[in-house]
Amino acid sequence: MRIARPKVLGSALVVALCAAHSLLTPQVARTQSAPTTQPAPVTAIRAGRLVDPATGTTATNQIILVQGGRFTAIGANIAIPVGATVIDLSQLTVVPGLVDAHNHLALTYKEIPERNIYYLTYVLDDTPLRAIQAASNGIQMLASGFTIVRDMGNNGNYADIALRKAIEQGWLPGPTIIPSGLIIGGLGGQFSPTPEMAIDKKLVYPEYLEADTHDEIIKAVRQNALFGARVIKICVDCKPWGYTTDEIRLFISEAAKAGLKVEGHVQTVDGARRAVDAGIWSIAHDRGMNDSIHKVMANKRIFRAGTETPISLVGHQTPQRYEATVALLRNGWENKVPLTFSTDADYYVPGKTRGEVAIEFIETWKAAGIPAPDILKAMTIVGYEVSETQDTRGPIKVGMWADFIAVPGNPLLSIDALRNVQFVMKNGMVFKQGGVMTPGAFFNGGPVNGYNQR
Ligand SMILES: [Zn+2]
Repeated sequence: MRIARPKVLGSALVVALCAAHSLLTPQVARTQSAPTTQPAPVTAIRAGRLVDPATGTTATNQIILVQGGRFTAIGANIAIPVGATVIDLSQLTVVPGLVDAHNHLALTYKEIPERNIYYLTYVLDDTPLRAIQAASNGIQMLASGFTIVRDMGNNGNYADIALRKAIEQGWLPGPTIIPSGLIIGGLGGQFSPTPEMAIDKKLVYPEYLEADTHDEIIKAVRQNALFGARVIKICVDCKPWGYTTDEIRLFISEAAKAGLKVEGHVQTVDGARRAVDAGIWSIAHDRGMNDSIHKVMANKRIFRAGTETPISLVGHQTPQRYEATVALLRNGWENKVPLTFSTDADYYVPGKTRGEVAIEFIETWKAAGIPAPDILKAMTIVGYEVSETQDTRGPIKVGMWADFIAVPGNPLLSIDALRNVQFVMKNGMVFKQGGVMTPGAFFNGGPVNGYNQR
């Protein structure tokens, strides 16, 4: 992974880009002339408050040192090394990066022209365009403090995996992407195509990867793993034929060979029952949830990605559905189900960025009466667990990749503090400060972090 560079100042992207470019040259020259590795520059952050979501506590006046992209020291009595770049966040609260456990960055359906029917979006928007949308949406998510996004399918022909690779290789800024590749489902996926479209034009693919038999299930999992998925997403019950408990177990065992977990899109109680019986990793959406399913999920520690659309996103939620969603979220919390913060925010809301749409979902959590420390836990700790990054990325701990955000208020007291993200660091590099994106250091003319095979 890349070495952290000194922070890039300047609010205009052009200024930041120039600054980043001028910093590149001496670094390269130094590497070429002196084979002995020079120590990476140190960044020291003065944090007025530092929140630990795991314990729900706040420490004051902390010093955080970052070197080589990782946290190297955290505490009240840390000496700032001579020559370190100092970032003053003494008036702000430092919080670990946020996780959206269910988004679709390469999908953006709209009221005009497709009346928010994504089947039409898929026909109108080609994968290259959607990949560029994903790059933009990723930047918008990062600006709102989301340093990890699980990208759960409906991303054209693997645009989610292209985005993961581009960010990891160092072409552009963005959250750490946990992509699913194509959603695997029985005949038709989530579409209801005409025979002409489904059979003559094979229109379901690549929005869905159809797998109806055991052989097809195995091959579909292998295809996604081969092309770079980090999680497998299946349609448990999108169609009446759905998947049986045994078939879901087959998905889980095949995915495990590639080190991948399985998330199920579930929309019926029967489907949820089959998914939890099979021991699935996570369940998306809340339509199959009830008190008894929640109790099993808590017991087996199955993650809940409920995608609780707030009523404030007009046109995307109905009063009846919202009431049920709020009650179910509350019930999941009361049953101690591992709750993740998940949005399914895959549409355009005029006047809002994708990140602002995602953060709006805290409204549902507030309506469910969930205390702010538990909402923050869902947005961080449980998010790292479902993403399987908890040992490498997420917590503000020595040795972890240096990702964090800073806000004026304290989200342990009011979760609304997260609406005002003033500062974002990713991989030890400043992405946003003073409320302004300064992403120059993230743009490179080549794969500076290395070429990835997968
Ligand atoms: Zn979704």
